[in-house]
Amino acid sequence: MFVSVGVRFEANVEALNMVETAGNYSKHRRVPYIIEEKNVLKIIYVPAVSGESLAHAFQELLAEEAISEKQKVCRKCLRGEFLKSMDEENAAEKFDGGKLPSDAEKLEEGIVKNCTVEDIGGFLYAGKPPVKRTSAFQVSYALPIKKIAIYSTVEPQLHARHAVMTEAGKKTGGEREGAAEQMIYYVETGTAIYGFTFNLDLRAIGLSAITGKPIIPEDELRARRRAAVKSLARMLSSTQFGAKLSRFLPLGGIVSLAVSVTEKPFTLTSPIYEGFEDMTLKRLEKIAKEFNEQYQYYVLGRNGLETPEHVMTQLIQYLKERNTL
Ligand SMILES: [Zn+2]
Repeated sequence: MFVSVGVRFEANVEALNMVETAGNYSKHRRVPYIIEEKNVLKIIYVPAVSGESLAHAFQELLAEEAISEKQKVCRKCLRGEFLKSMDEENAAEKFDGGKLPSDAEKLEEGIVKNCTVEDIGGFLYAGKPPVKRTSAFQVSYALPIKKIAIYSTVEPQLHARHAVMTEAGKKTGGEREGAAEQMIYYVETGTAIYGFTFNLDLRAIGLSAITGKPIIPEDELRARRRAAVKSLARMLSSTQFGAKLSRFLPLGGIVSLAVSVTEKPFTLTSPIYEGFEDMTLKRLEKIAKEFNEQYQYYVLGRNGLETPEHVMTQLIQYLKERNTL
Protein backbone atom coordinates (compact mmCIF):
# COMPACT_ATOMS: atom_id res chain seq x y z
CA MET A 1 0.00 0.00 0.00
CA PHE A 2 1.19 3.46 -0.89
CA VAL A 3 -0.14 6.50 0.96
CA SER A 4 0.09 10.01 -0.46
CA VAL A 5 -0.95 13.05 1.56
CA GLY A 6 -1.47 16.64 0.38
CA VAL A 7 -1.74 19.32 3.05
CA ARG A 8 -2.46 23.03 3.05
CA PHE A 9 -1.96 24.94 6.26
CA GLU A 10 -2.33 28.57 7.17
CA ALA A 11 0.47 30.00 9.28
CA ASN A 12 0.38 33.56 10.53
CA VAL A 13 3.61 34.82 12.07
CA GLU A 14 5.74 31.71 11.96
CA ALA A 15 9.47 31.17 12.40
CA LEU A 16 9.36 27.49 11.46
CA ASN A 17 12.60 27.39 9.51
CA MET A 18 15.41 29.81 10.28
CA VAL A 19 18.58 29.50 8.24
CA GLU A 20 21.18 31.84 9.64
CA THR A 21 21.83 34.45 12.26
CA ALA A 22 23.88 37.53 11.43
CA GLY A 23 24.53 39.42 14.64
CA ASN A 24 21.13 39.90 16.24
CA TYR A 25 19.19 39.14 13.06
CA SER A 26 17.71 35.67 12.37
CA LYS A 27 16.78 34.97 8.77
CA HIS A 28 13.85 32.89 7.60
CA ARG A 29 14.40 30.35 4.81
CA ARG A 30 13.48 31.70 1.38
CA VAL A 31 13.33 29.92 -1.95
CA PRO A 32 12.83 30.91 -5.61
CA TYR A 33 9.32 30.22 -6.82
CA ILE A 34 7.67 30.32 -10.25
CA ILE A 35 4.55 32.39 -10.72
CA GLU A 36 2.61 33.51 -13.76
CA GLU A 37 1.60 37.12 -14.09
CA LYS A 38 -0.24 38.40 -17.15
CA ASN A 39 0.91 35.37 -19.15
CA VAL A 40 4.55 35.96 -18.21
CA LEU A 41 6.46 33.54 -16.02
CA LYS A 42 8.43 35.12 -13.20
CA ILE A 43 10.56 34.03 -10.28
CA ILE A 44 9.84 35.49 -6.87
CA TYR A 45 11.34 34.66 -3.47
CA VAL A 46 8.96 33.25 -0.88
CA PRO A 47 9.21 31.94 2.70
CA ALA A 48 9.58 28.14 2.92
CA VAL A 49 9.96 25.27 5.37
CA SER A 50 12.42 22.58 4.30
CA GLY A 51 11.59 18.93 3.78
CA GLU A 52 14.42 18.09 6.21
CA SER A 53 12.63 20.08 8.89
CA LEU A 54 9.32 18.23 8.28
CA ALA A 55 11.13 14.88 8.10
CA HIS A 56 12.84 15.59 11.43
CA ALA A 57 9.49 16.20 13.12
CA PHE A 58 8.01 13.04 11.60
CA GLN A 59 10.95 10.91 12.76
CA GLU A 60 10.81 12.29 16.30
CA LEU A 61 7.15 11.30 16.51
CA LEU A 62 7.98 7.97 14.85
CA ALA A 63 10.54 7.12 17.55
CA GLU A 64 7.85 7.68 20.18
CA GLU A 65 5.12 5.72 18.38
CA ALA A 66 7.52 2.86 17.65
CA ILE A 67 8.26 2.48 21.36
CA SER A 68 4.54 2.37 22.21
CA GLU A 69 4.17 -0.31 19.52
CA LYS A 70 6.97 -2.23 21.31
CA GLN A 71 9.39 -1.80 18.42
CA LYS A 72 13.10 -1.14 18.87
CA VAL A 73 14.62 2.31 18.40
CA CYS A 74 18.34 3.05 18.89
CA ARG A 75 19.51 5.47 21.56
CA LYS A 76 20.36 8.41 19.31
CA CYS A 77 17.18 8.19 17.25
CA LEU A 78 15.22 8.11 20.49
CA ARG A 79 16.90 11.38 21.49
CA GLY A 80 16.02 12.97 18.15
CA GLU A 81 19.61 12.94 16.91
CA PHE A 82 19.26 11.40 13.48
CA LEU A 83 22.90 10.72 12.69
CA LYS A 84 21.76 7.13 12.15
CA SER A 85 24.20 4.33 11.34
CA MET A 86 26.50 6.59 9.35
CA ASP A 87 29.73 5.04 10.60
CA GLU A 88 31.06 2.23 12.79
CA GLU A 89 30.62 4.20 16.00
CA ASN A 90 26.96 5.00 15.36
CA ALA A 91 26.13 1.52 14.06
CA ALA A 92 27.90 -0.40 16.86
CA GLU A 93 25.02 -0.56 19.35
CA LYS A 94 22.94 -2.55 16.85
CA PHE A 95 25.36 -5.49 16.92
CA ASP A 96 26.46 -7.93 19.63
CA GLY A 97 29.57 -6.64 21.32
CA GLY A 98 29.63 -3.72 18.88
CA LYS A 99 31.16 -5.98 16.21
CA LEU A 100 29.97 -5.08 12.72
CA PRO A 101 29.56 -7.83 10.10
CA SER A 102 31.55 -7.46 6.88
CA ASP A 103 28.57 -8.40 4.74
CA ALA A 104 26.17 -5.69 3.42
CA GLU A 105 23.03 -7.83 3.87
CA LYS A 106 23.90 -8.66 7.48
CA LEU A 107 24.68 -5.00 8.19
CA GLU A 108 21.31 -3.85 6.87
CA GLU A 109 19.54 -6.65 8.74
CA GLY A 110 21.08 -5.73 12.09
CA ILE A 111 20.34 -2.02 11.70
CA VAL A 112 16.74 -2.50 10.50
CA LYS A 113 15.98 -5.01 13.27
CA ASN A 114 17.29 -2.73 15.97
CA CYS A 115 16.00 0.66 14.88
CA THR A 116 12.52 1.35 13.49
CA VAL A 117 13.43 4.95 12.63
CA GLU A 118 16.30 3.78 10.40
CA ASP A 119 14.11 1.07 8.90
CA ILE A 120 11.45 3.63 7.87
CA GLY A 121 13.56 6.77 7.49
CA GLY A 122 16.53 5.08 5.80
CA PHE A 123 20.26 5.49 6.52
CA LEU A 124 23.60 5.69 4.78
CA TYR A 125 26.43 3.64 6.26
CA ALA A 126 29.63 5.01 4.79
CA GLY A 127 31.95 2.28 6.12
CA LYS A 128 33.12 -0.89 4.45
CA PRO A 129 31.07 -2.16 2.72
CA PRO A 130 28.88 0.94 2.28
CA VAL A 131 25.14 0.29 2.77
CA LYS A 132 22.36 2.59 1.67
CA ARG A 133 18.75 2.23 2.67
CA THR A 134 16.30 4.61 0.97
CA SER A 135 13.67 6.22 3.16
CA ALA A 136 10.17 4.70 2.96
CA PHE A 137 8.71 8.21 3.25
CA GLN A 138 9.20 11.24 1.05
CA VAL A 139 8.36 14.80 1.99
CA SER A 140 8.44 18.03 0.00
CA TYR A 141 9.27 21.52 1.15
CA ALA A 142 6.28 23.46 2.44
CA LEU A 143 5.76 26.36 0.00
CA PRO A 144 3.11 29.05 -0.31
CA ILE A 145 0.21 27.96 -2.53
CA LYS A 146 0.29 29.46 -6.04
CA LYS A 147 -2.84 31.58 -5.70
CA ILE A 148 -1.47 33.77 -2.93
CA ALA A 149 2.29 33.18 -3.21
CA ILE A 150 2.77 36.77 -4.29
CA TYR A 151 1.19 37.95 -1.02
CA SER A 152 3.23 35.69 1.24
CA THR A 153 5.49 37.78 3.43
CA VAL A 154 8.69 37.69 5.43
CA GLU A 155 8.89 40.48 7.98
CA PRO A 156 11.47 41.06 10.72
CA GLN A 157 9.92 41.53 14.16
CA LEU A 158 11.80 43.49 16.80
CA HIS A 159 12.13 41.95 20.24
CA ALA A 160 13.99 43.09 23.36
CA ARG A 161 15.45 41.06 26.20
CA HIS A 162 15.54 42.97 29.49
CA ALA A 163 17.33 42.19 32.72
CA VAL A 164 16.90 43.79 36.13
CA MET A 165 20.01 45.84 36.94
CA THR A 166 21.69 45.25 40.28
CA GLU A 167 22.36 48.21 42.62
CA ALA A 168 26.10 47.58 42.26
CA GLY A 169 25.81 47.67 38.50
CA LYS A 170 24.01 51.01 38.65
CA LYS A 171 26.81 52.57 40.74
CA THR A 172 29.78 51.29 38.77
CA GLY A 173 29.44 52.24 35.14
CA GLY A 174 25.81 51.19 35.23
CA GLU A 175 25.02 52.75 31.94
CA ARG A 176 27.30 50.46 30.01
CA GLU A 177 26.28 47.30 31.83
CA GLY A 178 22.65 48.29 31.55
CA ALA A 179 22.97 48.61 27.81
CA ALA A 180 24.43 45.12 27.56
CA GLU A 181 21.56 43.71 29.56
CA GLN A 182 18.94 45.17 27.25
CA MET A 183 19.53 43.34 24.07
CA ILE A 184 17.41 43.88 21.01
CA TYR A 185 17.07 41.26 18.31
CA TYR A 186 15.13 40.66 15.14
CA VAL A 187 13.41 37.48 14.04
CA GLU A 188 12.10 37.22 10.49
CA THR A 189 8.61 35.78 10.53
CA GLY A 190 6.72 34.38 7.58
CA THR A 191 3.00 34.46 6.86
CA ALA A 192 1.43 32.33 4.14
CA ILE A 193 -0.83 29.43 3.30
CA TYR A 194 1.64 26.62 2.76
CA GLY A 195 1.23 23.36 0.91
CA PHE A 196 3.30 20.18 1.17
CA THR A 197 3.17 16.57 0.01
CA PHE A 198 4.05 13.53 2.10
CA ASN A 199 4.34 10.02 0.62
CA LEU A 200 4.62 6.85 2.64
CA ASP A 201 5.48 3.55 0.98
CA LEU A 202 4.16 1.01 3.47
CA ARG A 203 5.44 -1.85 1.30
CA ALA A 204 9.08 -0.92 1.94
CA ILE A 205 8.92 -1.08 5.74
CA GLY A 206 10.83 -3.99 7.29
CA LEU A 207 11.89 -5.31 3.87
CA SER A 208 15.52 -5.61 2.86
CA ALA A 209 16.48 -3.00 0.26
CA ILE A 210 19.07 -5.47 -1.00
CA THR A 211 17.13 -8.75 -1.28
CA GLY A 212 13.53 -7.48 -1.13
CA LYS A 213 12.76 -10.07 1.57
CA PRO A 214 11.22 -9.32 5.00
CA ILE A 215 13.78 -8.79 7.76
CA ILE A 216 11.29 -8.89 10.62
CA PRO A 217 8.22 -11.11 11.31
CA GLU A 218 4.75 -10.16 9.97
CA ASP A 219 3.29 -8.96 13.30
CA GLU A 220 6.24 -6.60 13.77
CA LEU A 221 5.90 -5.37 10.18
CA ARG A 222 2.34 -4.42 10.97
CA ALA A 223 3.32 -2.73 14.22
CA ARG A 224 5.92 -0.63 12.38
CA ARG A 225 3.50 0.35 9.63
CA ARG A 226 1.02 1.30 12.36
CA ALA A 227 3.66 3.44 14.05
CA ALA A 228 4.42 5.20 10.74
CA VAL A 229 0.80 6.06 9.91
CA LYS A 230 0.07 7.11 13.48
CA SER A 231 3.08 9.45 13.57
CA LEU A 232 1.90 11.07 10.36
CA ALA A 233 -1.56 11.55 11.88
CA ARG A 234 0.01 12.91 15.05
CA MET A 235 2.23 15.32 13.11
CA LEU A 236 -0.78 16.82 11.33
CA SER A 237 -2.95 16.89 14.42
CA SER A 238 -0.38 18.43 16.75
CA THR A 239 1.34 20.68 14.17
CA GLN A 240 4.54 19.85 16.04
CA PHE A 241 6.94 20.56 13.20
CA GLY A 242 9.43 23.30 12.51
CA ALA A 243 11.49 25.44 14.87
CA LYS A 244 10.85 28.22 17.39
CA LEU A 245 7.48 26.83 18.42
CA SER A 246 8.03 27.97 22.00
CA ARG A 247 7.56 31.68 21.17
CA PHE A 248 6.44 31.68 17.53
CA LEU A 249 3.80 28.95 17.51
CA PRO A 250 2.07 29.81 14.21
CA LEU A 251 -1.54 30.89 14.36
CA GLY A 252 -3.68 29.06 11.86
CA GLY A 253 -4.04 25.39 11.02
CA ILE A 254 -4.84 22.86 8.33
CA VAL A 255 -7.22 24.26 5.73
CA SER A 256 -7.12 21.43 3.16
CA LEU A 257 -6.14 17.79 3.38
CA ALA A 258 -6.38 14.92 0.91
CA VAL A 259 -5.11 11.36 1.29
CA SER A 260 -4.90 8.67 -1.38
CA VAL A 261 -4.17 4.99 -0.81
CA THR A 262 -3.07 2.95 -3.81
CA GLU A 263 -1.54 -0.45 -4.48
CA LYS A 264 1.40 1.02 -6.38
CA PRO A 265 3.24 4.35 -6.02
CA PHE A 266 1.03 7.36 -6.76
CA THR A 267 1.60 10.98 -5.71
CA LEU A 268 -1.44 13.19 -5.47
CA THR A 269 -1.58 16.48 -7.34
CA SER A 270 0.47 19.09 -5.53
CA PRO A 271 -1.54 21.08 -2.99
CA ILE A 272 0.06 24.31 -4.23
CA TYR A 273 -2.45 24.19 -7.13
CA GLU A 274 -6.10 25.20 -6.91
CA GLY A 275 -8.46 22.25 -7.27
CA PHE A 276 -5.75 19.71 -6.40
CA GLU A 277 -8.36 17.51 -4.70
CA ASP A 278 -10.51 17.13 -7.83
CA MET A 279 -7.54 16.77 -10.15
CA THR A 280 -6.19 13.96 -7.96
CA LEU A 281 -9.57 12.20 -8.07
CA LYS A 282 -9.62 12.36 -11.88
CA ARG A 283 -6.14 10.84 -12.05
CA LEU A 284 -7.04 8.10 -9.55
CA GLU A 285 -10.20 7.19 -11.50
CA LYS A 286 -8.23 6.97 -14.71
CA ILE A 287 -5.55 4.75 -13.19
CA ALA A 288 -8.16 2.51 -11.55
CA LYS A 289 -9.89 2.04 -14.90
CA GLU A 290 -6.83 1.54 -17.10
CA PHE A 291 -4.71 -0.52 -14.72
CA ASN A 292 -7.58 -2.26 -12.95
CA GLU A 293 -6.34 -1.18 -9.50
CA GLN A 294 -8.17 -0.31 -6.32
CA TYR A 295 -7.80 2.99 -4.55
CA GLN A 296 -9.16 4.90 -1.57
CA TYR A 297 -9.39 8.64 -1.39
CA TYR A 298 -10.22 10.89 1.54
CA VAL A 299 -10.74 14.64 1.37
CA LEU A 300 -11.23 16.98 4.30
CA GLY A 301 -14.75 18.45 4.27
CA ARG A 302 -16.21 15.72 2.04
CA ASN A 303 -18.26 12.62 2.98
CA GLY A 304 -18.53 13.61 6.63
CA LEU A 305 -14.79 14.03 7.13
CA GLU A 306 -15.07 17.23 9.12
CA THR A 307 -11.58 17.49 10.62
CA PRO A 308 -8.04 16.32 9.77
CA GLU A 309 -8.47 13.80 12.62
CA HIS A 310 -11.55 12.34 10.88
CA VAL A 311 -9.51 11.92 7.68
CA MET A 312 -6.56 10.26 9.40
CA THR A 313 -8.64 7.88 11.52
CA GLN A 314 -10.57 6.87 8.41
CA LEU A 315 -7.25 6.09 6.74
CA ILE A 316 -6.07 4.01 9.72
CA GLN A 317 -9.36 2.11 9.79
CA TYR A 318 -9.14 1.30 6.08
CA LEU A 319 -5.54 0.07 6.34
CA LYS A 320 -6.56 -2.15 9.29
CA GLU A 321 -9.42 -3.62 7.24
CA ARG A 322 -6.96 -4.38 4.46
CA ASN A 323 -4.68 -6.12 6.98
CA THR A 324 -1.86 -3.67 6.31
CA LEU A 325 -1.80 -2.39 9.92
ZN1 LIG B 1 18.45 4.74 15.02
